[in-house]
Amino acid sequence: MAEYEAIIGMEVHAQIITRSKMFCGCSADYAGAPPNTHVCPVCLGMPGVLPVINRKAVEQTVRTGLALNCEIASTAVFARKNYHYPDLPKGYQISQYELPLCRNGWLEIELPDGQKRRIRIRRAHLEEDTGKLTHVGEHSLIDFNRAGVPLLEIVTEPDIRSAEEAYAYVTRLRQILRYLGVSTGDMEKGAMRCEVNVSVRPVGSTELGTKVEIKNLNSFRSVRLSLEYEIRRQIAALERGEAVKQVTMGWDEERGRTVLQRSKESAEDYRYFPEPDLPPLELSEEWVDELRRALPELPAARRDRFMSLYGLARKEADLLTEERAVADFFEAAVQEYAGEPRAIANWIMGELFRLLNTAGLEITEMKVTPSGLAELQTLVDRSTINLNTAKQVLDIMFRTGRSPATIVESEGLAQVSDQGELAAIVARVIEEHPEEVARYRGGKTNVLGWLMGQVMRATRGKANPRIARRLLQEALDRE
Ligand SMILES: [Zn+2]
Repeated sequence: MAEYEAIIGMEVHAQIITRSKMFCGCSADYAGAPPNTHVCPVCLGMPGVLPVINRKAVEQTVRTGLALNCEIASTAVFARKNYHYPDLPKGYQISQYELPLCRNGWLEIELPDGQKRRIRIRRAHLEEDTGKLTHVGEHSLIDFNRAGVPLLEIVTEPDIRSAEEAYAYVTRLRQILRYLGVSTGDMEKGAMRCEVNVSVRPVGSTELGTKVEIKNLNSFRSVRLSLEYEIRRQIAALERGEAVKQVTMGWDEERGRTVLQRSKESAEDYRYFPEPDLPPLELSEEWVDELRRALPELPAARRDRFMSLYGLARKEADLLTEERAVADFFEAAVQEYAGEPRAIANWIMGELFRLLNTAGLEITEMKVTPSGLAELQTLVDRSTINLNTAKQVLDIMFRTGRSPATIVESEGLAQVSDQGELAAIVARVIEEHPEEVARYRGGKTNVLGWLMGQVMRATRGKANPRIARRLLQEALDRE
């Protein structure tokens, strides 16, 4: 069998977080609202109304373009994309065609084996979302709350070579959109949607194969699985001597296969023309520079800095920078803490992630503060509490938001480091367990661990383990 390679291009649509819609004053925050309550004559496409451009949406698109290393247009033009569909009341969508806001950029992806590749970005432009259709039996219901919400479209060159690379691309892109605060990137809620086009060709060939589009991919998983499936399907067809047809497919999650949606005899003709109701957008160089200077540190750069500055391993730095809010929390706690940053990292990656997971909360929603966490580890460093007690204290901090010092004080959790007090407990444990003590003295030194457990139990876990172990050892060896 010949060797084949896949040629993949990707289109991502992401809803931009703004207060109002793209061309009218309706609130864009329509989640959970009853159908058709976030609407006005503009987004309902009534005759005679005029659109007004949402400045914030333009700004967010330009910021995204800058983060994706794009050229930013000095003049961008909105265009009408004409087609008829029930979710599009005007009969056209206002989009951008020949003069998009951003073009010719790139995004660097990293594969699990550490290999890096650049995926070129052809363009990123601004448009409006459509309404939402729900099909119920023989009827279709239409909700226009989503109509006119600002939508960012990001299109790659066909530089992606495998399902794994597509997955790496879309996860990195979403992470950047979230870092920028441009989009929630929530695929389950439809705030981010993917389309791919894929063809295969024998390795070494310079001709492009016939490409197939797969639409409406609404999870990272479906991006990867649909591409894996489709690449296999196309190779099998070529091996049988069949031609791949130019079609649009969907992804059937349940059956794990791509399914035909429609054949594509010719390219759609949307009869684009410049939107006559909107002037061309002129972007000043100063404004774009201002936005560039104000960009946050992006995930890859922050990950590298965490490794060099805090001495973290790549995996740890990846985990801590996956979400901007987690990275911010870590750095704020490190600022308040005098010891090794790794101690703070361990708390976040271990106990805090566990507590957040169980409670189903985001790090920004919890009651533990960066300074609270720093204080907790400081209490451990000073031997005021031991590590096990610290976990209990964090639990209480998480539930109540109280400071660790007050919790230790009010719950009487301070570690017992007092030699006299501990020696008395050790003596009692030895007296109560003559058999185990005899076995230890007979050479079974591993009984020490068990006896140590008794000491911890007698102090309800508060014994300073270092001191307690030394006292126990001394008492046993004394005979
Ligand atoms: Zn409106």
